[in-house]
Amino acid sequence: MNKNEIVDLLKIDSPDEVQKLFSQARKAREKAFGNKIFMYGFVYFSTWCRNNCNFCYYRNANQIDRYRKAPEEIIAIAENLAQSGVHLIDLTMGEDLSYHQDDFNSLLEIVNRIKESTGLPVMLSPGLIEDRYIDLFAKQGVEWYALYQETHNRDLYSRLRLDQDYDQRMHGKGYAKEKGMLIEEGILAGVDESLEDIADSILEMGKIGAAQMRVMSFVPQKGIPMERVEKPSPLLEEKIIAILRLMYPEVLIPASLDIDGIKGLEDRMNAGANVITSIIPPKTGLAGVAQSSMDVDDGGRTVEEAAQILRRMGLRPATALEYRNYLTSIRKHTNCM
Ligand code: SF4
Repeated sequence: MNKNEIVDLLKIDSPDEVQKLFSQARKAREKAFGNKIFMYGFVYFSTWCRNNCNFCYYRNANQIDRYRKAPEEIIAIAENLAQSGVHLIDLTMGEDLSYHQDDFNSLLEIVNRIKESTGLPVMLSPGLIEDRYIDLFAKQGVEWYALYQETHNRDLYSRLRLDQDYDQRMHGKGYAKEKGMLIEEGILAGVDESLEDIADSILEMGKIGAAQMRVMSFVPQKGIPMERVEKPSPLLEEKIIAILRLMYPEVLIPASLDIDGIKGLEDRMNAGANVITSIIPPKTGLAGVAQSSMDVDDGGRTVEEAAQILRRMGLRPATALEYRNYLTSIRKHTNCM
C-alpha cells in the first residue's frame, strides 16, 4: 500500500468495513503464524529518567515516587516470569544516568545472569544509548533493541520528545541493526498526529527493517503536560495494528496490556496482533509504562490470564522453541527489507 491507500484505510469507520479490515488482518496473521501467539515478560527496573517527554508519567520533572530495582531482585523477577511461560524478557528503564555512569557494567552483568538462568532471549529498552554501549550489548548476544520514535513527523517529535535529537534516535536503531540486533520501532496514537503522519510512520517502520512494530494509544496521566489531552478511541490503535499486519505479515505486532489491561487484549488480537507484551508478575512493586498500575497487583497481567483468553479465541501460546525459530527466520527476512 502507498501512503494514500493507508490513509484511506485509516479513515474507514463503518463497523462492517472495520470488521472486514480486521478479518483480513487475522487471515494474514494465520497464514504467517498459524494460531501461535508470543508472550513477553516486562521488567521495568528503573523509573528514573533524565528526559522530559511531554507524554510520559516518568518524565524527570514529574514529582512521583520512583524506584531502581536491585540486581538480585531484577534477576528473580525475570526467573519468575520465565517459569510462568513467557518467551522473552523485556528489560526496560528510563534514561537512568546511574547506568550510564557505570558504563552499563551492572546492566551487562544482570543481562548475562538472566540469559544464563532463564535461557530466554532478551529485549533491551534502555532509551537512547551511545553506539559503544550498543556494541557491548550486541556482543553479549542481546537479541533486541527497542527504541521508539513515537512519531516520524519531526515537528511533532520535537514537541513530544523535548530536547532529544530525532536523527540520533533513528541512528541508534540503525546502528543496533547493523550490529546484528533485531529492532523494535513504535508510535503513539492520539498525540496530535494526522492520518498522513501515521501513514508515514507505517512506511518508515518497514523502511528501517523493524522486526517488531508497536502502536500504543496515548494515556493521559497525572502531572504531565498532556494530562488534559483526551485518550483516543481504541479503534485508531486497532486499525493501525491491522494495517501493519496487512503490510508486514511476518513481523511481530504487539497487543500491549499496558493501555487497557487484560480486558483490552481480545480486541487487539482480533485486529491482528501476535505478541502479548507487558506481562508483569503481581506484587513485585513493578510499574507499567502507559498505565503505571492497571491490573498489575491483582494478577491480571499474567501468562495464565492471557492464555485463557487466547484459547477462547482459537489461539494458543507458542512454545519457547517456536519463538527461537521465529527469531532466526525474521532475522533473515528483515535483512532483506
Ligand atoms: S518516554 Fe522514556 S525517555 Fe521519555 S521521559 Fe519517559 S522514560 Fe524518559
